[in-house]
Amino acid sequence: MKSLVFLDVETTGLSAKSDRIIEIYLLKVFINGDVQEYYSLVNPKRPIPKRITQITGIDDETVREAPTETEIASKIRSFFDQAVPVGHNLAFDLRFLNELFHRNQLATINNHGIDTLVISKKLFPKLCIYPDGGGSHRLKNLMYHFGLEKEFANSHRAKDDVKLLVQVYRHLERYAQGRLGQYPLAMTHGCPECGKAMNLINRNERRELVCSCQLRLVDKAKVNHIG
Ligand SMILES: [Zn+2]
Repeated sequence: MKSLVFLDVETTGLSAKSDRIIEIYLLKVFINGDVQEYYSLVNPKRPIPKRITQITGIDDETVREAPTETEIASKIRSFFDQAVPVGHNLAFDLRFLNELFHRNQLATINNHGIDTLVISKKLFPKLCIYPDGGGSHRLKNLMYHFGLEKEFANSHRAKDDVKLLVQVYRHLERYAQGRLGQYPLAMTHGCPECGKAMNLINRNERRELVCSCQLRLVDKAKVNHIG
């Protein structure tokens, strides 16, 4: 068993080739439980698009004094060392990191990592969508599913996302080991009528599962019954 590096990057856009990292946070968890962190803003040497600032709160001014990727590339690469990368939609982050390493003549990370998005899809194929969850397998939706919303602010910054990622990973692991109990099937495997992911709403202090096909599972007993 190797140590794990939980990671998240914020970027100027979606293309690993033409966009750049503007913020990176890495949290290494050793086998004995020790942790080590690496954080940096990164000056992408190009304007940050408005839509990215809206999501992340990071603008040109935020990164003006930050190091460029060339200044921190080898530090980032050596932080990973032989550790196993863990991310939510890991391939996205790894593409950006590997392009960065490649541009700076450093060894790329081979893609054997742990992707919590893949694990989530396997364990909860049609996870119900919580109010404000954004979609079945969004990190935020998993946050609501595991009841972690009180601990985590509504931020979209690398550091908060990684802290949430660690908790989500641990909950997925516990669930896979049967230590979290069971959920009603309609919550995790979709509408019993049409198979789509259901929407969870809170009404009169009761949770209801509602589907776009009109099926509505009103009380817990019924949800359980159908599950
Ligand atoms: Zn349905």
